[in-house]
Amino acid sequence: QTSLEIRHLVKRYANADKPVLDDISFDVPHGKVFVIVGPSGSGKSTLLRTIAGLEPIQGGTIALNGEIIETGKPGTESAGRSKRGSELRTRVGMVFQSYDLFPNKTVLGNITLAPTLVQKRDKAEVEKEAIALLERVGLADRKDAWPHELSGGQRQRVAICRALILHPEVLLFDEVTAALDPEMVREVLDVMLELADSGQTMLIVTHEMQFARAIADQVIMLEDGGIVEQSDDAEAFFTN
Ligand code: ADP
Ligand code: ADP
Repeated sequence: QTSLEIRHLVKRYANADKPVLDDISFDVPHGKVFVIVGPSGSGKSTLLRTIAGLEPIQGGTIALNGEIIETGKPGTESAGRSKRGSELRTRVGMVFQSYDLFPNKTVLGNITLAPTLVQKRDKAEVEKEAIALLERVGLADRKDAWPHELSGGQRQRVAICRALILHPEVLLFDEVTAALDPEMVREVLDVMLELADSGQTMLIVTHEMQFARAIADQVIMLEDGGIVEQSDDAEAFFTN
């Protein structure tokens, strides 16, 4: 079963003379982990943002579990976010390089906001699940802390919980350890490895090559907005 199906995706930024992503196609099977590599400026971050619905696309389609959730339309270069509705938006989760926690909400408040507000789920049930997720990432004792009281590594683990509580079909990670001190990188990567073991479908942009080699089922290499290589042998890919 295919979780994510990208077909002929074209993405253009306003006032750019050529597309930043040009005719991208790939399938992510359910429960698999794709790692996206490529030089700076090749379009990795943009690709994740279009899949998350943060950027409109100008050509092609994005389908989730066989349902088309995004169809490219020319002329939408300056349209801000894609038109995807909030229900569909919650089905693709994303964690960013910069911890984007709400500074005026506690750890628990950060995690429970979207499920109660957007998904209208029961508050007590959501809090119970939030605490279980915090336990899973080793932060149960920090549930009442404020974001500024946490280390970068702890904030990223909270950001992962905030994405997970929406039960996303696909979870996207954009350089989530790039801004962390080295000693905090491991604790975040360990959480991602555990998620992979649990069968979470993920797309990961990372510069941690040892980690990429360990976690990837598939590696996609982007160059200048196109896929130049795709491999299902991460070991061989990262060894060469
Ligand atoms: P990567 O993640 O591989 O470093 P990006 O997706 O960030 O690549 O960027 C790909 C290209 O798109 C770069 O040339 C970058 O300058 C350009 N770009 C990124 N964001 C924007 C934007 N909001 N507006 C215009 N150009 C952008
Ligand atoms: P890291 O712990 O990965 O180095 P940072 O460099 O972002 O994370 O932060 C270093 C320390 O500064 C953290 O322990 C955090 O508590 C504090 N800090 C970072 N950003 C803020 C902020 N916006 N407000 C208050 N404290 C912050």
